[in-house]
Amino acid sequence: MAERLESESRKLLGRLRDAMAGLAAGQERLDEITSLIADSMDCEVCSIYLFRDAETLELCATKGLNKEAVHKTRMKLGEGLVGRVAKRRAIVNTPDAPQAKGFRYMPETGEEVFSSFLGIPIQRLGEALGVLVVQSRAAREFSADEVYALEVVAMVLAEMTELGAFVGEGAAMSARHSQPAMFPGTVGQEGAAEGHVWLHEPRVVVTNPIADDPVREAERLGEAVEELRVGVDKMMQIAGGQDKDQRQVLEAYRMFANSKGWMRRMQEDISNGLSAEAAVEKEQSTARARMSQITDGYLRERLSDLDDLSNRLLRILTGQGADTGAEMPADPILIARNIGPAELLEYGRKLKGIVLEEGSVGSHAAVVARALAIPLIVHAQRITTEALNGDHIMVDGEQGIAHLRPDESVVSAFRDKIAMLAAAQERYASIRDKSAITQDGCTVTLHMNAGLMADLPSLVSSGAEGVGLFRTELQFLVRNQMPRRSELVALYDRVLDAAQGKRVVFRTLDIGSDKVLPYMKPNDEPNPALGWRAIRVGLDKPGIMRMQLQALIRAANGRPLTVMFPFVAQMEEYTEARRLMDKTVAAEARLGHVLPETIEIGAMLETPSLAFAPNKFFEDVDFLSIGGNDLKQFFFAADRENERVRRRYDTLNISFLTFVERIVERCDATGTPVSFCGEDAGRPVEALCFAAMGLRCLSMRPASIGPVKNLLRRCDLGEVRKVIAGSRHRGEMSVRPAVMEWLRGQG
Ligand code: PEP
Ligand code: MG
Repeated sequence: MAERLESESRKLLGRLRDAMAGLAAGQERLDEITSLIADSMDCEVCSIYLFRDAETLELCATKGLNKEAVHKTRMKLGEGLVGRVAKRRAIVNTPDAPQAKGFRYMPETGEEVFSSFLGIPIQRLGEALGVLVVQSRAAREFSADEVYALEVVAMVLAEMTELGAFVGEGAAMSARHSQPAMFPGTVGQEGAAEGHVWLHEPRVVVTNPIADDPVREAERLGEAVEELRVGVDKMMQIAGGQDKDQRQVLEAYRMFANSKGWMRRMQEDISNGLSAEAAVEKEQSTARARMSQITDGYLRERLSDLDDLSNRLLRILTGQGADTGAEMPADPILIARNIGPAELLEYGRKLKGIVLEEGSVGSHAAVVARALAIPLIVHAQRITTEALNGDHIMVDGEQGIAHLRPDESVVSAFRDKIAMLAAAQERYASIRDKSAITQDGCTVTLHMNAGLMADLPSLVSSGAEGVGLFRTELQFLVRNQMPRRSELVALYDRVLDAAQGKRVVFRTLDIGSDKVLPYMKPNDEPNPALGWRAIRVGLDKPGIMRMQLQALIRAANGRPLTVMFPFVAQMEEYTEARRLMDKTVAAEARLGHVLPETIEIGAMLETPSLAFAPNKFFEDVDFLSIGGNDLKQFFFAADRENERVRRRYDTLNISFLTFVERIVERCDATGTPVSFCGEDAGRPVEALCFAAMGLRCLSMRPASIGPVKNLLRRCDLGEVRKVIAGSRHRGEMSVRPAVMEWLRGQG
């Protein structure tokens, strides 16, 4: 870049800083700044537009346009050239604005005499805050250097906005992080919670965006990047060659930390007058803006790596660590981009709610949140940039919405909702010790799903008759190394103690697919959900399975033991696993261990193939449990982890329901006990339809037992069967509308 422009840019930033330091109010500051920029860029016009709400921009200050238009001229996102810059978060640079695509004439501004137009988005960490515009009479395109200089200015304006330098009258100039904001997301765990924000990773605040001494700033940046590189190398050494995913991320970190392009851009920013931390944040903002446009998963991940790395660099430069000295509120609602299951467990039950920007419904963090019965919302975009520690927040885990800094009307409506949910809980508590007997006298046994010790207290509070699915892999997933057999014995022993004689169905390790153990070398599989997982791993690597079976036998220590093998796709897999169990039992007996009083060995029916296994399989197996989560994904060929297709096929689709009915018929014919333990068992309407299809045992999240029991007790299954038959007869795709209508009629 030309030296002259560089020093001009620095001069301008120096004057901006003086404007910031003065005692002027927000409006005066903005006015002064537009004058400074217009002068320094040699333009007749400089204007600043800020958002007054998510959809509307407002002219907040101008040098050169009619002053009367200030705070009157407004445009929608995408409207006119200014709206276009904001919507696309991209520069518009044209010598002939009236002829440019999207131009819209605003007569009150008097802008018709100005031909050239340069609009730059004012954005911070990917969030659009406004638009900075310069215009001039002469028809000319602004040079790349001029555009760049104005981008640097826009970055400083964004920082100033964030720091509250432009607070004034009206919505467009209201203080940042003070307005109510709503974040729609996806429900990870139902429930409602009110509390105060606790940021998992506190935001780094840059208070000195402008610097006088570029040489010193460049040195600071160089030193910080060096420290970062050493840190990344150390992390790589610690990670070793074990975990491929982690290595990949660290490799990406290393790539960026050594990237000449990244360094060069930041050094240029510094030459133009930014401080080292502002330069890092400017590049981070650009990466975030790009992230919002990119759909390719791999590229998005790399950009998100760059984002993480920038945060690390900012922490080094500002000295702001993860510990800011802030005190956790008494009713914390955790806000994070994403969080691992182990970290979540560390917070434990003290959290009232969780809102994540990323995450997924099927993730292990979600499983932990469910186990702890903490309302969870995932995919709440931008919440980490908007929320501040201590902000009032309400988490609506029914609708999947987080209300940040809610206004009075939202607060009172939400509190009504919490009261209604509490009343419903009371209703459920009143039937806790009653059975789920339908109006026509059918008894449905309700069990709970578990996986952590933290789940066990729910066995009493929910009224579950046992644990229908104990996901043993969770204990493996939340650790950094393979648990030892003695540890497993102690754990299973505690589980059985806590169950106080109620049946616990221990499912052997179900790893692979989405459940990758942090300490096991992951396999590079094109399609992990269809790959080497669950019983397939167990049979190919019998050492781990034997160790787990031994631990279960020893923990039972004379008590009844129930074991279930996951993801059995053909009879032989079950037969082989059972043989391994028999051998283990014999070996344990030889070693003098007390054997379980009884041993039941079942299988999960999670692949359509098993529903068509020979009769002998149904006769051999002690019981079956339908793993609806997997069964449904394979039945419809729709990935349960993929938000795009996950909801496309209704569980109450007549094809799926008929399939479930056939499975129940086959089990009835051989007298094989069968249950359903996928998530759908915990949804009252689905549970009702499963019961109507003949299922008499359902296993679900503890919190679902009350609502499911409540509905079952009110309904006549014979009537529900008639409704389903009618829907089938009319050729409807799903029985849901008919069942819902019938339920409404029941009151
Ligand atoms: C299922 O697939 O329905 C199931 C219960 O197992 P998981 O969700 O652990 O795969
Ligand atoms: Mg499964």
